[in-house]
Amino acid sequence: MISRERLTDSFLEMVRIDSLSRKERDMADHLLKKLRKMGFEPYEDDTGPKIGGNAGNIICHVPGIPGKPVLLLMAHMDTVAPGTGKKPVVDGDVIRSDGTTVLGGDDAAGIAVILETVSSLMEDGTPHGDLYLVFTVAEEGGLFGARNLDISRIPADFAFIMDDEGPIATAAVKAPFYNRFKVTFRGRAAHAGLEPEKGLNAIMLASKALADLPHAGRIDAESTSNIGIISGGTARNIVSETCTVEGEVRSIYEDRLERYTKEILDHIRNVTEELGGQVETEVERMYPGYSMDESSPIICLLKEAADKAGLPLNLHATGGGSDTNVINGYGIPAVDVSVGMDRVHSTAERIRISDMEKACRFLEAIITTALTYSR
Ligand SMILES: [Zn+2]
Repeated sequence: MISRERLTDSFLEMVRIDSLSRKERDMADHLLKKLRKMGFEPYEDDTGPKIGGNAGNIICHVPGIPGKPVLLLMAHMDTVAPGTGKKPVVDGDVIRSDGTTVLGGDDAAGIAVILETVSSLMEDGTPHGDLYLVFTVAEEGGLFGARNLDISRIPADFAFIMDDEGPIATAAVKAPFYNRFKVTFRGRAAHAGLEPEKGLNAIMLASKALADLPHAGRIDAESTSNIGIISGGTARNIVSETCTVEGEVRSIYEDRLERYTKEILDHIRNVTEELGGQVETEVERMYPGYSMDESSPIICLLKEAADKAGLPLNLHATGGGSDTNVINGYGIPAVDVSVGMDRVHSTAERIRISDMEKACRFLEAIITTALTYSR
């Protein structure tokens, strides 16, 4: 049986642990210990040193009935700032932060729901297929844990990432491809008071090039772009020689992503060169997007599980990126499932215990429904 008390205690224990991105050591140790206590043999991969962090991803195989679909259940260990010294406040059914930090339910709630569901299955002797539990590091700010995961050791047929918001049985089934770009504008330095005419101001080049970008903000229903960082110049009395700008483009459609990125960078280059300056541009695909078909097996499985759990299914598209994108990129159909977290990435973050309980019931229904599917 799903135990409200065990679930609540496990959640509270985890949110009290500091676990900022790349500083997940204490959380990783806590989970390794907990999983061993449950009778499993978890291991930690070598992602930590690769990304400048102090912990790797935690991976744990839960053996099940052979020949049945293998499920990957995933959540991330890291939280955003301010996340040091978190003090959860239990207020009836609601758990919130004390207002000075985030709660860290993003994504301790995902981990707590997975652990409680597995505990309940084992306790009740409920049949299930092979499960792989993966708790990633450094999801926030770049999905670094998932991107460094050795997926060849995880032979999963479907993946459920427990890291979405909204009523329980909400799942993100579409998310955008993501490009980030960096532009370096190059002008000419000169003394601003003595001979400004000999200079070419890189900050001015950037401002002119950015003034009427062909795409900024919302581009279409499934695509967005943003300029997020600008920096340049060395002193008030020097005509600035360089200026760098960093931005992003997202789209559910890969071809649009590429077209919009190119149009933005072409525009910047043309304007700058006309003014006599130069630009260097770098583009990096941070992660792929995904878009699940209504008739795909993972959506059918979600529908059946929601019926079984008596919850209305709510499938949606998200503009954000999550570990779900990376897992889909590895070729494993993956969706991002709600655990009830609310107002995440803010000091007003909170979650209902009853929503986490419902999320356990939904996950249990997903696991048992999967037994009726073929690999
Ligand atoms: Zn999250």
